[in-house]
Amino acid sequence: MRQLVILGGGTAGTMAANKLRRKLDRAEWAITVVDRDDTHHYQPGYLFLPFGTYTRDQVVRSRHRFIGDGIDLVLAEIDRVDAAAHTVHLAGGRELAYDQLIIATGCEPRPDKTPGMAEAMAADETTARGGAGVHGSGARVHQFYTLEGALALHEALERFTGGRLVIHINELPIKCPVAPLEFAFLADEYFTKRGLRESVELVYVTPLDGAFTKATCSKALGYLLEERGVAMETDFATERIDVEDSPAGFNAVVSYDEREVPFDLLVTVPINLGQEWVARSGLGDDMNYVPTDKHTLRSVDHDDIWVLGDAGDIPTSKAGSVAHFAVEILEHNFLAAIAGEPLTASFDGHSNCFIESGYGKALLIDFNYDTEPLAGTFPLPKVGPMQLLKETRANHAGKLAFRHIYWNVLLPGHRMPIPANMSMAGKDLSSAVTPKAPPVPGGGHGTHVPTF
Ligand SMILES: Cc1cc2nc3c(=O)[nH]c(=O)nc-3n(C[C@H](O)[C@H](O)[C@H](O)COP(=O)(O)OP(=O)(O)OC[C@H]3O[C@@H](n4cnc5c(N)ncnc54)[C@H](O)[C@@H]3O)c2cc1C
Repeated sequence: MRQLVILGGGTAGTMAANKLRRKLDRAEWAITVVDRDDTHHYQPGYLFLPFGTYTRDQVVRSRHRFIGDGIDLVLAEIDRVDAAAHTVHLAGGRELAYDQLIIATGCEPRPDKTPGMAEAMAADETTARGGAGVHGSGARVHQFYTLEGALALHEALERFTGGRLVIHINELPIKCPVAPLEFAFLADEYFTKRGLRESVELVYVTPLDGAFTKATCSKALGYLLEERGVAMETDFATERIDVEDSPAGFNAVVSYDEREVPFDLLVTVPINLGQEWVARSGLGDDMNYVPTDKHTLRSVDHDDIWVLGDAGDIPTSKAGSVAHFAVEILEHNFLAAIAGEPLTASFDGHSNCFIESGYGKALLIDFNYDTEPLAGTFPLPKVGPMQLLKETRANHAGKLAFRHIYWNVLLPGHRMPIPANMSMAGKDLSSAVTPKAPPVPGGGHGTHVPTF
């Protein structure tokens, strides 16, 4: 019996396991998925938790529910992989031998990597886990990139009645790079509806030179921020967070060139890194991302290792949509490889993202390694029904419907009527804006040029 081991039972690992189980002969191939716990999170839903639009129950399900028949789910912490010995070492000493390995352990926010951040945040997440209210100096720094963080932030927003709310990106790449922008738009709506918008100053702090990396999109989103009265602080390479432990204390995000952005409440996106087990196994780069062939999705260094989702270093968005498109390419190449045939499927970096802009509307962007987000219609020319790079109610409905599609279509590995590689049908080429040279953020782990 040959062994396929899939590390990570999140978005990418679950889809890959379910798709490949249908294709691989059960008498010949065993499939094992390893994850640390039985809780599958719908991470795009974290965005809505702080505003009370979603509750915990809408974003969390048992992992077992989505792992199909004929797939073994092992719940254990991955300690390391010995690639030379084709062995996965689990915490507690268990070992799993593999013939083929798929790495799908994603990436995670690391507040401990920015001086001052983890300490300032700790009180919130701890108290939120215990179900108590959030008090103390920690209540000034929050994140929504974890379940606990997003729930604690909900309490903090409810208590916030005025002052300077700073939305901050430490460094790129991050999961879903548009999520902080969406947070800014939703915060504008949230405080307006509470009758507090006049008392809340919203500031968006980014290491980029504009709202987003892609020029066409940056222009549209920068305009929206301006329209919503959100000030922008760009080219900000974060060094540390200063929080004074007193109610009247001075709190600021500080850059390497000593710029200070003061805040009363900070909503930050911590540095996102690949998993520590990747570093322990000698399989990652300086951010623990696994070097991956961006077209075949095979590891650059090992022919029997494949990489899917946020765990790899391919230059596109770290997004569930990318994992979903990429899994079809991986499936094709994986089957070719085990049959001794050449890898003919080539991933183009296709990413497709709804951008919630508040007040019941959203934008949609669709792009790949080579093509910027363009205006037009999606998925059908002229008909749509989605409009690209335009705020519409249909796009918002699409964003909300995505949760249902995620649980019921994507995770079980069913096909969606959208091609894996990007289609130019419906796209308006005249809407392209000439991109500026990509910015290189100073300090930190800034060796990655943010090309998503
Ligand atoms: C706030 C937010 C909003 C988002 N919005 C969108 C959106 O609108 N659209 C979109 O397409 N994407 C969005 N995303 C991104 C999307 O959720 C991720 O890109 C996607 O989940 C990546 O899938 P993955 O399988 O690579 O990683 P994950 O889904 O994170 O799965 C990784 C799995 O590996 C497991 N694991 C990790 N390390 C270990 C270990 N050592 N031992 C055992 N198990 C381990 C984890 O428990 C986890 O289950 C958003 C993300 C966030 C945080």
